[in-house]
Amino acid sequence: MISQRVRTIQPSATLSLNAKLQDLIRNGSEILNLSVGEPDFPTPEFIRERAKQAIDEGWTRYTAASGHIEARQAICRHIARTRKIEVEPSQVVISSGAKQSLSQCLLSLVDPADEVLLGAPHWVSYPELIRLADGVPVTVKTDSKDGHRLTPELLEPHLTPRTTGLILNEPGNPTGTVSSADDIAALVEFARANDLWIISDEIYESLIHDGELHSPFSVDPQRVSLISGLSKSFSMTGWRIGWTVCNEAQAAAMGRLQSQNSANPCSVSQACIATALEHHDHPELLSMYETFRVRRDLLVEGLSGIPGVHFSVPGGAFYIFLDLSERLGSTGIALDAEAFAVRLLEEKGVAVVPGPAFGSEGAIRISFARPEAELRIAITRIRELLCES
Ligand code: PMP
Ligand code: GLU
Repeated sequence: MISQRVRTIQPSATLSLNAKLQDLIRNGSEILNLSVGEPDFPTPEFIRERAKQAIDEGWTRYTAASGHIEARQAICRHIARTRKIEVEPSQVVISSGAKQSLSQCLLSLVDPADEVLLGAPHWVSYPELIRLADGVPVTVKTDSKDGHRLTPELLEPHLTPRTTGLILNEPGNPTGTVSSADDIAALVEFARANDLWIISDEIYESLIHDGELHSPFSVDPQRVSLISGLSKSFSMTGWRIGWTVCNEAQAAAMGRLQSQNSANPCSVSQACIATALEHHDHPELLSMYETFRVRRDLLVEGLSGIPGVHFSVPGGAFYIFLDLSERLGSTGIALDAEAFAVRLLEEKGVAVVPGPAFGSEGAIRISFARPEAELRIAITRIRELLCES
């Protein structure tokens, strides 16, 4: 009954684990849930107010399938300000979240058996979204000891005549990686030399703790599809607004696809795009970004110096990816990362996501989208398990 395509799809590991944990918490279990990546802040009041007003103004109908013109114009202004590139509304497609943007983008770029390169550890959904588009994900391992840098040298051996694209994600989930301008320029040059398209997922664009974001879109806007949205930078996960900015031909193709498979994203949410982007420096937002930076520092300090445990300091987003491989195995603290995560949950009441969901054995992802008091307790418990066993 179920199609071949969907029969083999795995559920999002992060979303399904979070749903299970929410059930346990609702039923009275005391769990520190550091699994899912969702800002633990309410959507800022000025955006909520705009939504209420928008309903009364009549933002309640279909808009153009690729998004309301005013919302697309606001995204163009945002791109000019942040990526220093002038784009037209005809280059913007607004979708129901960055996840859908990625899906529409891959469906528009990938032909059957095309190979798509991506660094590992990688966000959970990329391989499945590539497979849904009948493509083949090709993962390229990066090293925590080298800050999870993805370089042309690492990618080169994985090139084949079928390689057509490369997915980049900065700040990265699950590692928080933010590359230098030189590293990004080298990756774009590699893509040019091998005639690859690039999808650059920049959904964590405002959550930068050190330095600044260097977008490949600023280097080669014809080759790069920039994906972002409101979920993380504005704490608007439930509003489902993501966008793709790309060359005009691709945006038109994506618009045709979207007009058939979902039409416009929620019009009330679209009405808030201009308000959100124009108030990118609102004190409520700046205070949220600062809170994430303070939590990052807390975790980096709290988890440093544990024997056999490595991580690279996350330059952005709200995750820290602990490499425990030296501590795992038949004589280790647990057989593998999944068994470690089970021990951490059962013995210490701390929930994290095991690394294999991100294409990386022997590691766990800790989300710091939780209040500082919870993080302090979690650090103590993680240290207890790793230092006393
Ligand atoms: N890309 C990455 C790297 C993410 O972590 C997420 C979070 N779910 C998304 C895309 C999708 O975000 P959205 O809520 O906009 O669909
Ligand atoms: N991006 C979040 C995470 O990695 C949300 C989960 C998801 O969209 O799959 O936890």
